Amino acid sequence: MANDVWVYIEHKDGAVTPMSFELLGIGKTLADGLGSGVCAFVVGEKADDIAKEAFAYGASKVFAVEGAEYKGFRADAYSKAATSLLDKYKPAVALFRATSQGTDVAAASAALLGFGLCTDTIGLAVDGGKMKMTRAAFGGNYTVSVVNEKAVPQIATVRPKAFAMPEKDASKSGEVVKEAFSVAEADLNTKVLEFIQSATAVNLVEADIIVAGGRGVGNPEGFQLIKELADLLGGAVGASRAAVDSGWIAYEHQVGQTGKTVKPKIYIACGVSGAIQHLAGMRTSDCIVAINKDPDAPIFKAATFGIVGDYKQVLPKLIEKFKGKLGR
Ligand SMILES: Cc1cc2nc3c(=O)[nH]c(=O)nc-3n(C[C@H](O)[C@H](O)[C@H](O)COP(=O)(O)OP(=O)(O)OC[C@H]3O[C@@H](n4cnc5c(N)ncnc54)[C@H](O)[C@@H]3O)c2cc1C
Repeated sequence: MANDVWVYIEHKDGAVTPMSFELLGIGKTLADGLGSGVCAFVVGEKADDIAKEAFAYGASKVFAVEGAEYKGFRADAYSKAATSLLDKYKPAVALFRATSQGTDVAAASAALLGFGLCTDTIGLAVDGGKMKMTRAAFGGNYTVSVVNEKAVPQIATVRPKAFAMPEKDASKSGEVVKEAFSVAEADLNTKVLEFIQSATAVNLVEADIIVAGGRGVGNPEGFQLIKELADLLGGAVGASRAAVDSGWIAYEHQVGQTGKTVKPKIYIACGVSGAIQHLAGMRTSDCIVAINKDPDAPIFKAATFGIVGDYKQVLPKLIEKFKGKLGR
């Protein structure tokens, strides 16, 4: 058990998405390398439904701290509870998604345990019985590999979609280990008064369809056309760094080495040349459609379908066709 790989399962008031379980796949690979098992751990008001899903995605055991004080996410309460589990069971590895919640809990847990933390990891492997964590450094110009020689567990946050989703098998089950750990209100520094969803929030990482614009879009107005197609298809708007650096669209839309890593079913790249740093964030998309007026643009080498043309002419035609197909 001490050599196990643990994966933190994040949720919002008990609600999970399949992505909450994505690290169980790489967790299993690491556990195989260590000759151990992959387990999930969760903090929340109730854990049973989450545990059932975790088994389906490959966890052999689920460790849970439950309690009324864990209704609604609070970093200080969740990290104290997560730390109590890590401290008691001392797994070899603890993985968190590099999301707001995962990063909050991982950083606070590592600090409470007095251990180091490798953030935004993009590569994980077992080397000599230790976990080798790879991350981008110096603005993405280098990648570095980190091994935490002394800490047990070795803690990492992992970039969403950096690893393949594990297969789901609903027939699988396992043991749920519930540990009592309560935190007194007086020991918590935060109280959540209200949760307000940002009107402009972009969930690029979980989007099934992304329409992205690059420098070739030419100006902020060009992104209206990109957004029109994305909205029509129920997708999200992505961008290259050149478009973001030009001030045409916010950084939260950036895809690539120093932006987000995405893996949608369809990625439509408009006026994006296909630089290696952009491809690093989207090349594993299921289907890539490239629209570029330069037939020699490198993006066409990565594309499933390519359209050579001016996006200002191509997009209105695509929008019209999709409207017809979708009956809008
Ligand atoms: C350390 C580092 C990290 C980086 N991180 C990222 C990152 O995370 N994400 C990222 O995207 N980049 C990143 N970059 C930048 C990257 O190297 C490229 O500079 C950037 O991706 C280029 O963006 P682009 O394709 O939009 O622009 P360009 O390379 O200028 O390409 C524009 C394309 O638009 C086409 N075009 C022009 N007009 C039209 C039109 N009307 N219709 C259709 N096509 C048209 C052109 O033919 C061209 O192919 C990084 C660079 C470094 C050094």
